[in-house]
Amino acid sequence: MYMFKDKVKKYLTTHNHTTLDLKAVLFDMDGVLFDSMKNHAEAWNQAMKVYGMTLSREEAYMHEGRTGKATINIVSKRERGYEVDDEEASRIYQTKSDIFNNLPKAEPMPGAGDLLHHLMDTNITPVLVTGSGQRSLLDKLNHYYPNVFHQNLMVTAYDVQYGKPNPEPYLMGLKKAGIEANQAVVVENAPLGVRAGVAAGIFTIAVNTGPLPDHVLLDEGADVLFHSMQELYEHWDELKASFEE
Ligand code: CA
Repeated sequence: MYMFKDKVKKYLTTHNHTTLDLKAVLFDMDGVLFDSMKNHAEAWNQAMKVYGMTLSREEAYMHEGRTGKATINIVSKRERGYEVDDEEASRIYQTKSDIFNNLPKAEPMPGAGDLLHHLMDTNITPVLVTGSGQRSLLDKLNHYYPNVFHQNLMVTAYDVQYGKPNPEPYLMGLKKAGIEANQAVVVENAPLGVRAGVAAGIFTIAVNTGPLPDHVLLDEGADVLFHSMQELYEHWDELKASFEE
């Protein structure tokens, strides 16, 4: 039982809105549009080792959504007692990106393409909001989901100062789309991403595609939770109908 109506009502009451007038869906990328998180966790683990630091694969999932520099800083402060400068952060992030790019290619998330095309057919605009700054991934987006995300409707690591879990990236997504918080929903797989969506005042859909327990995402304030993009796609019309009542 999803009880979408109750959850939408709770969202509206909490945020003092009377309606959820859906114009756009703000999509996170890794773990939502691509099944890429396993590779990211592996690449982070290996890259940190190169620099004498430890970041377990499990911990990588907890940092998911942060910018590369923010993640590197947390680990550096913990393991070495000091913050990285921009030059070293870039070097470590490059190592991580190189390792990532040598791993077997991550596939598009099953169900994601169907949902994106269904949205476009119903005049709802997909917007990308990712902490990633990897050119290879952004190119991949245009390869697997051609003509879905417009250049001016993408928020990446290059656009933001703070990154998730700060609401900044999602607020910027709203701004780029020219809409208010109650005219969008967020689709996120990571705890910090959910926190960012909720902090931006947007109805936040968690899709738990990774190894963390559901409660980690629900504890961050996710309004509803699905276990795959396919499941979200299958329930989309029902969920959307509950926005309109
Ligand atoms: Ca993600």
